[in-house]
Formats: sequence, C-alpha cells, structure tokens
Amino acid sequence: MTKILNIHNLGKTYSSGSKELTVLHDISFDIEEGETFSIVGPSGSGKTTLLGLCAGLDQADTGSIALCGTDMGTLNEDERAQLRNQHVGFIFQDFQLLPTLTALENVAVPLELRGDKNAIKRAVELLGKVGLSDRINHYPSQLSGGEQQRVALARAFCNNPSILFADEPTGNLDAETGEKVVELLFELNKELGTTLVIVTHDLELAQKTQRILRLKGGRIMEDEKVAG
Ligand code: ADP
Repeated sequence: MTKILNIHNLGKTYSSGSKELTVLHDISFDIEEGETFSIVGPSGSGKTTLLGLCAGLDQADTGSIALCGTDMGTLNEDERAQLRNQHVGFIFQDFQLLPTLTALENVAVPLELRGDKNAIKRAVELLGKVGLSDRINHYPSQLSGGEQQRVALARAFCNNPSILFADEPTGNLDAETGEKVVELLFELNKELGTTLVIVTHDLELAQKTQRILRLKGGRIMEDEKVAG
C-alpha cells in the first residue's frame, strides 16, 4: 500500500511574547492511500494543530511531514500552497462559506481562480453529487447547517483531492444531519478513493473509520486499527 502521509517525530511549539507552549511532542504515524483515519482526544490535546500541519496550513518546528511523497519541510509557502491545491481538500466545523456568494459561486469561484474554464459546469455537477441541485442559487444564510456543510464538501472536492482533512465536520450539526454528512463523506471515500482524515470528539464517527489516533497532552496515546 502507498503511504499518502508520512509523519516522523513531529513537534510544534507556539510562542506568544516570552511564553512558549509545546503542543505536539514526537508524533509519528503513516496514513495509507484511501484509508479512513480519525484523530480523537480531549480539547486542547493538539488535534486541530496536527490536522493543520498535515494539510500544510502551518509548519512544524521539528520532524518531518511528507504529503504524497513530497517533504513539506523543503517547500516555501507558495510551493506548499501549490501542493495543497493539487492534493488537499479541507472542511471546517463552521463550514467557512463566503456569505455574499451563492452555493454555486462558493464552489465555482475557487475553480475559476485555478483557471478552470468549465468551473460552472463542474460546480453544478459537484453540488448535484452532494444532493443540492435544487439549492445552487441559495446564499449560505438561506441554507440549513447540513446543507452548508454539503456545499463546503462540494467545494473541498473541487480539485478532486487525494486526501480530505475534516476538522469536527459534524460539530455544528444535529445528530441526524451530522450522520447524513458523514454518510456522504464515506460514500465519496468509496467512490473516489479519497483518503479521509477526520478530527472529531464523536466516538461513534471515529469508530466508522479504519484507524483511530488518540492524542493526550500533544502525545500519541494509542494508534488503533478498527473494523471501519
Ligand atoms: P484541540 O484541537 O485538541 O482542541 P488545538 O490544536 O486547537 O487542540 O490546541 C492545542 C493547544 O495549543 C491548546 O492549548 C491551544 O490553546 C494552543 N494553541 C492553538 N493554536 C494556537 C496558536 N495559534 N497560538 C498559541 N497557542 C495555540
């Protein structure tokens, strides 16, 4: 199996003023292509920080991260952005849609920015895939939380990512809506082979993934294979 993510002795320290806080200590693990993987642990244990580092949104202080075979430590910011554009999708707990754009525009604009001449057509297709064909001209404020998260999912899939990072994707949704979003995530994993890395406090969701990484105080407590 090919490793899509390769993390070795990772460490991260935040500094504010004269204070330093080390939030990740000596983290090492690999993720295989197509795997579904969750990161769980108490609040403040470093889950979001770890996810951001894996996705190339921030830089580690020590250790190395290779994404799709490229060591991110060797890249400058532009090159990291390029690698992200090529391979990475990201969704957030609070959806992060642009409020002044319709659902269609939220998905099409990033495609247009990448120079995609068929952005509208592709955005319509993606919104259809997440079951929102009848909502494409709605603004985020006119959509339910579940619908907004599905728009975010369509947007995250616009570059056909090899790996999707999701930070508490069901955190702002009621149980039933959350379940539908999760079903969709796993459907996309099956259909497109997209690797899923999910930070969650929802142990039921974590149990649906093939592996669970438990963090505490910025250290790995357990790296468990589950049935998935
Ligand atoms: P989790 O996602 O498990 O709740 P986080 O990764 O968000 O944990 O945070 C881990 C620790 O790092 C917390 O103590 C948090 O306050 C601190 N932290 C997170 N981001 C920053 C930052 N940008 N600057 C300083 N400290 C931060």
